[in-house]
Amino acid sequence: MVFTATGNDWATRAETARLHTRMLVNGEWVEGSAEPLTPVSPRDGRALPQISAADASDVDAAVRSARAAFDSGAWSQRAPRDRGQALIAFAQKIHDAAEELALLISLEMGKPIREALQTELRAVVNCFRWYGEAADKVLDELPVTAPNSLALVTREPVGVVAAVVPWNFPLTMTAWKLAPALAVGNSVILKPAENSTYSALRLAELALEAGIPPGVLNALPGRGHETGRALGEHMDVDVVTFTGSPEVGRKFLGYSAASNGKRVWPELGGKTASLVLADADLEAAVRATADGCFYNQGQMCTASSRLLVPRADRDRALEIASEVARTSLPADPFAVETSMGAIVSESQLTSIAGFVERAAGEGGEIAAGSADRYDAVPGGSYFAPVVIGVTPEHEVARREVFGPVLSVIAYDDVDDALAIANGTEYGLAAALWSNDLKAVHRISRRIKAGVVWVNCFEEGDMTIPFGGVKGSGFGRDKSLHALEKFTDLKSTWIDLS
Ligand code: NAP
Ligand code: MG
Repeated sequence: MVFTATGNDWATRAETARLHTRMLVNGEWVEGSAEPLTPVSPRDGRALPQISAADASDVDAAVRSARAAFDSGAWSQRAPRDRGQALIAFAQKIHDAAEELALLISLEMGKPIREALQTELRAVVNCFRWYGEAADKVLDELPVTAPNSLALVTREPVGVVAAVVPWNFPLTMTAWKLAPALAVGNSVILKPAENSTYSALRLAELALEAGIPPGVLNALPGRGHETGRALGEHMDVDVVTFTGSPEVGRKFLGYSAASNGKRVWPELGGKTASLVLADADLEAAVRATADGCFYNQGQMCTASSRLLVPRADRDRALEIASEVARTSLPADPFAVETSMGAIVSESQLTSIAGFVERAAGEGGEIAAGSADRYDAVPGGSYFAPVVIGVTPEHEVARREVFGPVLSVIAYDDVDDALAIANGTEYGLAAALWSNDLKAVHRISRRIKAGVVWVNCFEEGDMTIPFGGVKGSGFGRDKSLHALEKFTDLKSTWIDLS
């Protein structure tokens, strides 16, 4: 499956795009009771149509609808193969609407149209297809017990799942939650990020069109502290699956503790270290790291935002990374050749600029870029990539910026490099560059991260789990392991004596 963004009429198409502005509950479009959302396109700062938002009473209605759908058995008791076929039909609907969905993503969060279509939509279609194919291939267990008894270990859907997701890969993150939760028979309530609601509402509509019964997937736009919190605190939500910031992820653990003790699966931020060993091809490693830091305007939990190089290579690394920065400038997200688009919002832009200003104030050496905004499309929110030479103590080398800012850090030996790499609160991903086989194995074992890339970056496949350790949370998306988050084990004993 290859999607190709062609033509340069995306801005015209955006003018006439159909934008859903209400909540989808029990298969109906309904108004929410909270203050409506007032989205703005970061492409040009233009106000977009207001979106209805859910308050606690709307959340309650959606949870009741999801529970009733679950209890009806229309989805939860359907043969796994039939559920799988419905997910594959859903994938096909998404495939057929890929350009429309990509346009919505680009409009609402500023991702280049080509990336939205070729990378994001492809991943979304793949994900629903993969879990659709997997639905009837998951086996239960029959462990050996005493001869006079039989014990079955079966998996049952948990019931009602709330999926609360971010805006940076809006539909990919949504697919990673929805597909496994639905595959095993749950009902799901999706709370999209405020900055990526139109695409989520259209996706939920496509689920209905694909034959997933009403109430099995409800979509509730709204504010995190209102809609998200009400889901987290609801007594009849069984599981929360969350991707977002560490701060909010920990809030969900608190909501759970204060309500029904629901399971919370947090997938949180990161501060990926890209560790270049002395024997590595410096130029290739630095280029890949800079690209990995600037991709999606740096708004990526796995952004390779820390480049660790031997002290002797520091200046050369700064030069190479700066070359990449200077040739990766933002442009109109609706132009098909654009590879760097807009920052999601003005507040995010201000936050990124603040990191750069403070880094300069702390003595960081700015080798490319600046704390100033960049003018790509009038009225829009753009920021050119920044490369800074820093020490591990600098704020920018420790905290997640979520913008195109690369910290270049010199290390003295491998122990020093590992101490720096492991020295943040995060543990999502890391990269290692070397051709020394033994060193690669020894060092990757000592890296505290859920994902390690060796001589590559951002490799991924639906078959392989994705998630972190430490402050990056403990949820795992993708692969058959993700199904475990959405099922309970049941042990059934049968007396044969
Ligand atoms: P965020 O602020 O944590 O928001 C994520 C979701 O939580 C949004 O839907 C948000 O709603 C909601 N939310 C916000 N405050 C809430 C509250 N008090 N109670 C309940 N829900 C609340 O994260 P973000 O700014 O959208 O995304 C950036 C973060 O996501 C970064 O830290 C990044 O590293 C992380 N991320 C992690 C992964 C991964 O797989 N590990 C992938 C992508 C992103 P609103 O939109 O209304 O604020
Ligand atoms: Mg946020």
